Amino acid sequence: TLSSNNGTKPQTLSSSSEAVINLDQGDPTVYESFWGKAGEKCTMVIKGNELMSYISDLRKPCWFLEEELENTIKRLHRVAGNAVVDDRYVVVGTGSTQLYQAVLYALTTGGTAPDQQPVPVVCAAPYYSQYADETDFLRSGLYKWAGDAYAFDKEGPYIEVVTSPNNPDGTTREAVVISSPADQGKVLYDLAYYWPQYTPITRAADYDIMYFTFSKSTGHAGSRIGWALVKDEEIARKMTKFIELSSIGVSKDSQLRAAKIMGVICDGYQDFKSDENSENFFEYAHQLMADRWKRLREVVARSNVFSLPKYPQEYCLFHGEFTESFPAFAWLKSKEGAIDEDCEKFLRESYKIVGRGGRRFGADPSYARLSMLSREEVFQQFLDRLQSINNGTVSNG
Ligand code: PMP
Repeated sequence: TLSSNNGTKPQTLSSSSEAVINLDQGDPTVYESFWGKAGEKCTMVIKGNELMSYISDLRKPCWFLEEELENTIKRLHRVAGNAVVDDRYVVVGTGSTQLYQAVLYALTTGGTAPDQQPVPVVCAAPYYSQYADETDFLRSGLYKWAGDAYAFDKEGPYIEVVTSPNNPDGTTREAVVISSPADQGKVLYDLAYYWPQYTPITRAADYDIMYFTFSKSTGHAGSRIGWALVKDEEIARKMTKFIELSSIGVSKDSQLRAAKIMGVICDGYQDFKSDENSENFFEYAHQLMADRWKRLREVVARSNVFSLPKYPQEYCLFHGEFTESFPAFAWLKSKEGAIDEDCEKFLRESYKIVGRGGRRFGADPSYARLSMLSREEVFQQFLDRLQSINNGTVSNG
């Protein structure tokens, strides 16, 4: 329901004929049209006798990693300039979701104390809602979710997850826990969105444990490919052990498809003989995200209900100019007093726009997270619907 105690507040606009707009998940279908146009360059054929073995290379810590994928991951990072890849072990996972769990295992196992308490896992709020669920799902004796890193003040070992740019709010982040005694903490960096279409690339990330995903870099979430870049061999081995026990490796079909697609991106930047009419992926995706944010900001600027975060301009080494962030999610805030209930409920019940409420991210319910990565048609419907909240009419869009 809408607040009715103030003449400037919006009217109830709910109409049963309007379709539900689901922007709850960050499903990256926005990039489908680019890959559709790329055509046959991205097509690959796998013969019946290929990729049958569990094994790729037993000499490597991550023995199920296909060499072609490893090489192409490194090539892609050199193109984007977003991560140091020299002297790093690559560990491939079934999405970065599996890598998150593999890292927690790797950082907490091997202790000899029989009475070892589960190691607290924290992340500064607002944090990616899945960390909490994934950490506690199996009630591990090794680690447990301990919530907002800003509120964490316990002594002893801990793990801090740093998501940068952050999901849900798109900010650039560093670790926040001050360790007591010193050096008790381990930090893992989830860099799912550290790509030139979302944020200025200000340096090559150089952390001990960092991971990326095919889902957000190119948009191929369905292939379920993520990769970690790990400095320490023992950590890479333990992560591999976790994946071995949970899925005996990662689909080779997917690994090679990921290598193929990433290779096409790299070719666009490195092969001067390549098709002159085709646009390079990161420029295309950056333009597209910039355009979506511009359109969203125009609608929100006219709103007396919502506001959006502002992002600083920074020099992007990839684009060679000052750029802003264009995050994969809109972190929409309902202005104080504008509505009676929380932001997520208001959008869902009155406008059939489904997002994820602030509470799930350890934040205030006046926030809701909405995906910016939907197909164009859905994105335009979302803007029209949001606009109708400003106008006091339901649009037909
Ligand atoms: N980390 C972050 C910050 C994410 O937003 C997501 C996907 N929404 C993931 C990890 C997991 O992605 P995937 O398992 O598809 O790699």
